[in-house]
Amino acid sequence: MSHNHSPLSRRDFLKMAGAALGGAVLACGRGVELTTVPAPTVPIAPTFPAGTMANLILTNGNVLTVDDANTVAQAVAIAGDKILATGTDEAVRAMAAPGAREIDLQGRTVTPGLIDPHLHFRAVGLNNTYYVPFILPDVKDVASLQYALADAVRGKQPGEWVMGYYMILADKSIPTKEDLDPVSPDNPVFIMHIGGHWGTANSVALQIADVTASTPSPQGGIIEKKNGEPTGVFYNHRAMDVVRRFAPPITADMIKQSILDTQTLMASVGVTTFHDNNIRALEDLRAYQELSQEGKLFLRNDLYLTLEWPSDLEKVDQVEHIDDGVTRFRGFKFLIDGQGPTAYCHEPHNGAEWRLPTWDPKMFKDTIRSLHDTGLQICVHCVGDAAADLALEAYEAAMNANPRSDPRHRLEHAILTTAQATQTMKDLGVVVSTQPAFIYLFGEGWNYIFGAERMERVMVTKEWMQSGVHVAIGSDAPSTPFYQPQATLAGAMTRYTFKQNVIGSDQTFTFAEALRAHTYEGAYSGHQEHIKGTLEAGKLADIVVWTGDPSLLSPEDLFSSTVDLTLVGGKIVYERSS
Ligand SMILES: [Zn+2]
Repeated sequence: MSHNHSPLSRRDFLKMAGAALGGAVLACGRGVELTTVPAPTVPIAPTFPAGTMANLILTNGNVLTVDDANTVAQAVAIAGDKILATGTDEAVRAMAAPGAREIDLQGRTVTPGLIDPHLHFRAVGLNNTYYVPFILPDVKDVASLQYALADAVRGKQPGEWVMGYYMILADKSIPTKEDLDPVSPDNPVFIMHIGGHWGTANSVALQIADVTASTPSPQGGIIEKKNGEPTGVFYNHRAMDVVRRFAPPITADMIKQSILDTQTLMASVGVTTFHDNNIRALEDLRAYQELSQEGKLFLRNDLYLTLEWPSDLEKVDQVEHIDDGVTRFRGFKFLIDGQGPTAYCHEPHNGAEWRLPTWDPKMFKDTIRSLHDTGLQICVHCVGDAAADLALEAYEAAMNANPRSDPRHRLEHAILTTAQATQTMKDLGVVVSTQPAFIYLFGEGWNYIFGAERMERVMVTKEWMQSGVHVAIGSDAPSTPFYQPQATLAGAMTRYTFKQNVIGSDQTFTFAEALRAHTYEGAYSGHQEHIKGTLEAGKLADIVVWTGDPSLLSPEDLFSSTVDLTLVGGKIVYERSS
């Protein structure tokens, strides 16, 4: 069955949250720090044979190249899949081959294609097919969840699973089986929080999975119990897997269709490269590879295989090291903790458990060390400060044992980190890949869980940047509904929660900083800054033409702004219909 929910608008959120974000509050200045360099001398990369002419030119524009000097040009010359030059209209027109296509930008702004270094690309589409959405504005509390769940159950045969996800319930942070049972007495139900790190099963699902009072929690996960009885709540992937392995499998065809649907969606918001940062099965890797071989993928993609359990290490030798110019296998992903309630921290917090690394630390370090030796990249999901420190310790030990050059291992999210960790990241060349739009949706929850003092250390984007740590920003969709880079850019500039609180006002990015973190730094996070991420001669012609000038929009307008054209390798992959 299919649920075609239109994407959630910011308005829906505001309505629900009762937070009337005024334009006056959000329009906090342009924050543009772009340098205009007059008439650059059109450097042509030595990679082009002498006499190479452009087959496509974009002229009469405001071209934000995002190069080291933040040069603004007028025009772009494209030869095949690469940028031949940027410069003045005159200089670029002089490079056009006879019969070359010219796109008159009519003053519109052009930027490098957006690079999302962390999302669950293949899962975005599943949120409207495999999973039933229990989200705003329809579902906002337990009563409306029950109403919507009853509706979903009516569409199923007795015994058929309902897999779903919820976003915010105003009256209960996490539902229990008692909330689900009255409206689903005969169907197994498992609903995850949108963030993906905890979920609730009803009694039928618990029965099928044989989870009883005597079922122990797996290492690194929690099967929650009250008075000895399971509540239906499961924290962390390892615990959630205890139930969801009984749910109907997500088929290869569903995965492929979801990838294609997501590709159309992401191209329409200006994304030209994405990193699927949490691939949990070799079949999913194969789905990307097959689509790429069939010529159906046009967005460039880097793939990371998640190793959730020690037994997953068997997959390491079975991975095919794909690299066909579009699809690349890049490395491995670990989750060392969960989200807020199960953040692995140095000090106690108000969540469910603060000292729960999902891997045994010793085994984790040994594993990182051997994977480091494969020459590939490693990414570790860390939310709590102890999780980040454990990952950094593991990286440091592996790099000391085998000092291969510039492994560029990554911390994903890095919500809470110590000041010392910033220095260690810098010293080790570790890249941070984080998601500023999380603050909107999860910031209030962190405030409750971590407390005011620690909130000063939440997602310290500016500190990292100023310390010389490479920071790439992205969406982590579908862990939030904000799949679009426009939301990520606005989030990095404002750091608003849905209650209008600013978290870390000294950590905001200017537009120019946010744009570079979503383009150049995204390329850097995949070792590809030499071929993409800025508009410079010799780089791939991955380009976005914006409807309005994003550098002049208030963050609120930027959030809902659109793009007119998306080009990958000089080919138009999205064109907005007016
Ligand atoms: Zn993620």
